[in-house]
Amino acid sequence: MADTMTTNRTAAQSQAIDDAVAQARDSYAAARPLTRELHERACAVLPGGNTRTVLYHQPFPLRIARAFDAIVEDVDGHQYVDLLGEYSAGLYGHSHPVVTKAMADALAEGISRGAHTRYEIDLAEAICARYPSIERIRFTNSGTEANLMAVTAARAFTGREKIVAFNGGYHGSLLTFKAGAAGVNAPYPTLIVEYNDTDAARATFAEHAGSIACVLVEPMQGSSGCIPGDPAFLAALREETTKAGALLIFDEVMTSRTDQGGLQGRLGITPDLTTLGKYIGGGSSFGAFGGRAGVMELFDPTRPGALPHAGTFNNNVLTMAAGHAGLTQVYTPEVARRHTARGERLRETLTARFAAAGAPFQATGVGSLLAIHPTASPIRSIADLAGGDPRLLELLFLDLLDRGYYMAGRGYLALSLVLTQDQLDGFTAAIDDFLTARASLWS
Ligand code: PMP
Repeated sequence: MADTMTTNRTAAQSQAIDDAVAQARDSYAAARPLTRELHERACAVLPGGNTRTVLYHQPFPLRIARAFDAIVEDVDGHQYVDLLGEYSAGLYGHSHPVVTKAMADALAEGISRGAHTRYEIDLAEAICARYPSIERIRFTNSGTEANLMAVTAARAFTGREKIVAFNGGYHGSLLTFKAGAAGVNAPYPTLIVEYNDTDAARATFAEHAGSIACVLVEPMQGSSGCIPGDPAFLAALREETTKAGALLIFDEVMTSRTDQGGLQGRLGITPDLTTLGKYIGGGSSFGAFGGRAGVMELFDPTRPGALPHAGTFNNNVLTMAAGHAGLTQVYTPEVARRHTARGERLRETLTARFAAAGAPFQATGVGSLLAIHPTASPIRSIADLAGGDPRLLELLFLDLLDRGYYMAGRGYLALSLVLTQDQLDGFTAAIDDFLTARASLWS
């Protein structure tokens, strides 16, 4: 649905938005000479100066020199309150003493041991205790790899080929469905269905049930803009997969931080397999896939014909030790519940501010994962974002940087545990400032 505020905008307002963005980019660049210099160096050796597409923004991306607590400081010496939280991997902030001590202790015993250690058992036990659907788990190096392995396991288990994924879904750099299947995707035969469209999902099963190995779904689409899955839609996926003998894979790489048992716990839906990543490694490279023992047995090396799954860093001690300390000593179930509620309060506050200002913005999300969108129209799928004006989001991003607050250029926020209430209040006040200063662009 088109955003009426966007469509009603006058030509003069549209020109004013272009001018404001150009001016904001210029002042961003002028204040960051060292950042520019490093970007130019980077461009000589990294395509576009970049090795992680999501971090790129105009006119050249921020470059962080150091980080502590909930603060990041760029190479030009500007400090920002970090609302991005490393795209949700930074739940513990940048220097949590429990996490850094666990890493230092593990390091003191030696890295790269080329053998099992006790650490992977500790972390596996903590995760299995936390998520009842995960009876057995295996570790990987990223969420991407976790999803590739989960899909592979589902195909091997069912002896079927096809996977069902959703428009707007993001499951890693080789499983990207933001605008259909991305050109870089792993070549699985994939049926792409509209997110939150229960009828379309059921119709897909009616047509292809016998050849579907699995449904791969984020219970809240994260990368596409923190778009929550409708509980009835997700329940229908559970029902259809069970009926068809296919596996339901919940990608909880982002959402596992919701409440004490992930979004699956809140929804009361038990997937066959779950994939994890991000903060569960304590801030180090991490991924995992796990679920029903009967499926995960495929990887038991004592079984004849077991599926191989190696990975030099699958059990690297820094990740295993940091992850275990974080999950058991810091992000306890009680803390997880409180942090989720805190995020929900912030989302409600932002929503109220946008509405009060009559501004074409809204905040969506679940718990401590939020996204700000430059549209006031309802959002149920990625298609609903088309009516927003991306220039307004860029302006918000640059204006917030100017005021000392860092979120993703796409409007994404993943709250860390170390953000203080003062910092969150300051962020809300900065949004208010923006809404006042820029009101002529939409009113
Ligand atoms: N699944 C989801 C839901 C994600 O948000 C991400 C990362 N943004 C991934 C998978 C991929 O994880 P990684 O970047 O660790 O490969």
